Amino acid sequence: MGVTTETRADPAATAAAPADIAVKISGLYKWFGEFQVLADVDLEVARGERIVICGPSGSGKSTLIRCINALEPFQRGSIVVDGVSVTDDLKRIDEVRREVGMVFQQFNLFPHLTVLQNCTLAPIHVRKMPRKEAEEIAMRYLARVRIPEQAGKYPAQLSGGQQQRVAIARALCMSPKIMMFDEPTSALDPEMVKEVLDTMVELAQTGMTMLCVTHEMGFARQVADRVVFMDAGQIVEVNTPEAFFTSPQHERTKLFLGQIL
Ligand code: ADP
Ligand code: MG
Repeated sequence: MGVTTETRADPAATAAAPADIAVKISGLYKWFGEFQVLADVDLEVARGERIVICGPSGSGKSTLIRCINALEPFQRGSIVVDGVSVTDDLKRIDEVRREVGMVFQQFNLFPHLTVLQNCTLAPIHVRKMPRKEAEEIAMRYLARVRIPEQAGKYPAQLSGGQQQRVAIARALCMSPKIMMFDEPTSALDPEMVKEVLDTMVELAQTGMTMLCVTHEMGFARQVADRVVFMDAGQIVEVNTPEAFFTSPQHERTKLFLGQIL
């Protein structure tokens, strides 16, 4: 009996099964020079979970998600993505980035490549996929984001909403296990916000693990399993959307919601 109990209490044995955890951030600290941008951040994202991260400008949201796919180094703590530790080891970093798709506020499409070429570049050159197969997969995802007819155009010929949907399709072409979005609708004209959010909602319905930095509270209510509120480099509050919006616990959360709702 005693032995069994002890075995169960062994931290190694009771650690969450990596298979169920997409991202585990523990005791994360980051500084830009003297400036502390992240302080003791802990966050565990289950596979298939949809997380919305919100908080005031400058609170560290972008920095946090950029640490997850090693676009930013960090000084203390640990991040494990799909069982792979994010370290300075470049091989590991490549492994992590292959699992994580990222969509930015400014689309970041390659302007000199067509929509189709934007989508096939990484599969062909990083995944070493034959061109024909990469193009078939790209067309499938362009159809899923409802712009297959734009495949031969250049980014500048598309609206902002269309460009952002290309960016989403491009990320999906690498078959990521996790998709991260950093304010994907903030640079869009208002009439284009919905088409991008609809695409993200549809993606959520496929069971994709998603981390979305966004202030689109309708989206948060519709798809988020949990809302993470950050302020001054810390996670201040984590809650279900319902509880987050109707009964925020912290003064800083209340203040923030008062400003955006
Ligand atoms: P958010 O995405 O929540 O608006 P950021 O993560 O972009 O916040 O930035 C958090 C803080 O870190 C801000 O004060 C910002 O000015 C600072 N910061 C961001 N990037 C850098 C950088 N490369 N060098 C120095 N400070 C930075
Ligand atoms: Mg940001």
